[in-house]
Amino acid sequence: MRSHYCGDLRKEQIGEEITLMGWVHRRRDHGGVIFLDVRDRQGIAQVVFDPEREESFAVANSVRSEYVIEIKGLVRHRPEGTVNSDMPTGDIEVVGLELTILNKAETPPFPLDDHQKVGEDVRLRNRFIDLRRPEMQEKLRFRSKVTSEIRSYLDGNGFLDIETPILTRATPEGARDYLVPSRTHEGSFFALPQSPQLFKQLLMVSGFDRYYQVAKCFRDEDLRADRQPEFTQIDIETSFMNEVEIMDIAETMIRKLFSELMGVELGKFPQMPYSEAMKRFGSDKPDLRIPMELVDVADLLANIEFKVFAGPANDPKGRVAALNVPGGASLTRKQIDEYTKFVGIYGAKGLAYIKVNDVAKGAEGLQSPIVKFLGEEVAMQIVARLEAKDGDLIFFGADSEKIVSEAIGALRIKVGQDLNMLVCEWAPLWVVDFPMFEANSDGSLSALHHPFTAPSCTPEELESDPTTALSRAYDMVLNGTELGGGSIRIHAQDMQRSVFRILGIGDEEAEEKFGFLLNALKYGAPPHGGLAFGLDRLIMLMTGTDSIREVIAFPKTQSAACLLTNAPGEVSAAQLRELNIKLRRTP
Ligand code: ASP
Repeated sequence: MRSHYCGDLRKEQIGEEITLMGWVHRRRDHGGVIFLDVRDRQGIAQVVFDPEREESFAVANSVRSEYVIEIKGLVRHRPEGTVNSDMPTGDIEVVGLELTILNKAETPPFPLDDHQKVGEDVRLRNRFIDLRRPEMQEKLRFRSKVTSEIRSYLDGNGFLDIETPILTRATPEGARDYLVPSRTHEGSFFALPQSPQLFKQLLMVSGFDRYYQVAKCFRDEDLRADRQPEFTQIDIETSFMNEVEIMDIAETMIRKLFSELMGVELGKFPQMPYSEAMKRFGSDKPDLRIPMELVDVADLLANIEFKVFAGPANDPKGRVAALNVPGGASLTRKQIDEYTKFVGIYGAKGLAYIKVNDVAKGAEGLQSPIVKFLGEEVAMQIVARLEAKDGDLIFFGADSEKIVSEAIGALRIKVGQDLNMLVCEWAPLWVVDFPMFEANSDGSLSALHHPFTAPSCTPEELESDPTTALSRAYDMVLNGTELGGGSIRIHAQDMQRSVFRILGIGDEEAEEKFGFLLNALKYGAPPHGGLAFGLDRLIMLMTGTDSIREVIAFPKTQSAACLLTNAPGEVSAAQLRELNIKLRRTP
């Protein structure tokens, strides 16, 4: 057995005989003396082997990187001049007395201290080695601390940790399901849960009052940098609490995490209605660290000849918004071209701008391809509304409301980051008063959150004008990322049926898919609500990482595959037969 972890050795152990077990991080031969840097999960210690101890010296001479070894040795002060203040164990070294090789290792596919130059695919294929790197160890250790803090907070507040099934029926959260064929029920499939939503609601009907789970969720959707097909939620549900109380419990939990694990005081989170977030920031998850806002200018442009602006300005579904970039007049033509390409990703057909060189000179002080189309008066009205100063630049978006909000909202973030405009490190907020539904291109409606979210009106009001109805949902946003979200749920059967009807789910289909929920709502369902946090994203933000894959031990690639195990993989003909599945290969 080891007596100490390598990385935990300090001056206090000087003079002690100890036993270490770990991996050879590096081996150096220094004029007859061999130094082994030995690594374990706590860190690295330096062990010295002297030729006078022939046996252990010979073994030390034969070990290579990543061999697994056991060392008995004596802790001593490092000789004067060799103390390394960059290493936690840098005051001491271990004189190696005995050395045993527990296992040999082939040369690793990449050096552990030079991962920057190693492609992510190589790292993922050899994840067990990649995870040996101290940064990765640190991230996973931090992740473990976060879940432990969360558990202790929720346990302390009377929440019960209850597991819900992985093999289940579809839970609609807006993604495609992962399906698992049933062997015992020919032609039938389980769905992996997109979230434990329906089960946690049933647990409230059962009277558990406060539930949580560190839950795996599965969503088959096109992946982006911050998405994974399977991910972890901190899933929470409560009974008899309103949104103010639920948000307070959740906010206190996040504040405590930041304060205790990072020494960061987040303060009270502001709240912002969805409509305001979209208007001012073009996003329902605004990054409040960037001090720029979208400003509507359609009213100033409604009567001009220039159709590119006048069209959307007069269209009820259109939007014309401007963004003043302080100091932006120094952007080069090339940079502006790049931003034009960037907004193109969001469907914007162009990116008009005005450089404000000298406000006092009126339109003459403006440099822009569009001022001649706007006319001097309108141009100056815009400059005044945006409070633009000499040296600023105003960008414009004119299109459908959706395109303008998304494109200029994203541009705001990109420019803010490129020009280092962030005014603080952490900017949390709650976004509230979401619409119940969003319209699809064919005119049908989808639930903005999920179909179990309670509206803030009666069923009659909801059915008479679903498009304007607001929901009792809330999202927690941090630095432009949605950390979590939830809502007060529907607990009355008639309201649930109304929502299904509005979503085009007829009574028969509702019965077939969600009969168990509708049934449960008949038998004394308490008012309830909750929320779920995306644990991976939370850890990603807390550790300052830019990919969710860096904080998951065994993540999948952007194409939803595991390079380590080669999953998904083919299965044998016998397995398929047993499942009554016949593959239809595209020729
Ligand atoms: N089930 C929701 C989700 O996965 C969270 C919630 O409403 O509690 O986003």
